[in-house]
Amino acid sequence: MPRLSAMPPVTRFAPSPTGLLHLGHGLSALLAHRWARENGGTFLLRFDDIDAGRVRETFYAAAITDLAWLGIAADTPPIRQSARLPLYAAALEKLRAMGLAYPCFCSRKDLAQSAAAPHGPTPIYPGTCRNLPPDVIAARMATAAVPAWRLDMAAARTRTGPLNWQDAAGRTYGANAAAHGDIVLARRDAPTSYHLSSTIDDADMGISHVVRGDDLFDATSVHRLLQALLDLPSPRYTHHALVGDATGRRLAKRDGAASLATLRDAGVDGLCLAADLLAGKLPLGYCWVKA
Ligand code: GLU
Repeated sequence: MPRLSAMPPVTRFAPSPTGLLHLGHGLSALLAHRWARENGGTFLLRFDDIDAGRVRETFYAAAITDLAWLGIAADTPPIRQSARLPLYAAALEKLRAMGLAYPCFCSRKDLAQSAAAPHGPTPIYPGTCRNLPPDVIAARMATAAVPAWRLDMAAARTRTGPLNWQDAAGRTYGANAAAHGDIVLARRDAPTSYHLSSTIDDADMGISHVVRGDDLFDATSVHRLLQALLDLPSPRYTHHALVGDATGRRLAKRDGAASLATLRDAGVDGLCLAADLLAGKLPLGYCWVKA
């Protein structure tokens, strides 16, 4: 696997502009930014905005304002995935040509029903459309709505054999993507997926170190598999602990109260907050400048 680790690092923060950033985003961005700054590297801002139905223009600017408040500025203008769709289409085409991608005509309802069946803790796609005969595929392609495209996970893993990924300290982890089942490569409502576009972009942007929350630990195995299939370099990965609220509950975008904008409006000092987040000082309480 090509190695990038000997060069100055390139890191990125990749929010989806579908809501306001919260403290967890702040920590991801701060860690990625610090890694680049401390090692003479480059920090990039990428908007993962493939989800046209949920993206709002206002959240792009809000994210830049939030980052500036925390003392973070990207080294290049922000990158938008929505402007890079041909890149993802080419990767999908490559996987199709390798016989590893198949169209999935299952509706949301079909998927919800199959998810209700017992598959263990994470429902995985049951493979309904995996082996459809070519004439059935052709007929459905002609008449049905746009299909999703899925990776044939078993065939992909057979092709690559066992895989590993490494963290920033060089520790090696087994990358077993099998638990994800036949992941989506292109959605019915978007011509790509998070897994595909993120993997392609991290390689294309020369990202050497990916820093993101523990909630994406398992996704790294999928990204490693896609890298191996598409002959892409593998960055080092850091997964940081998720930021909880005072009760330890994980923060989510829907918790408006925890958004960085809300804290700023309430008078919190951004640079002080950034230092506390990096020092793991939570729950917060040190940075209030206004009553
Ligand atoms: N857009 C993804 C998110 O906000 C990015 C995750 C990643 O860093 O790969 O969760």
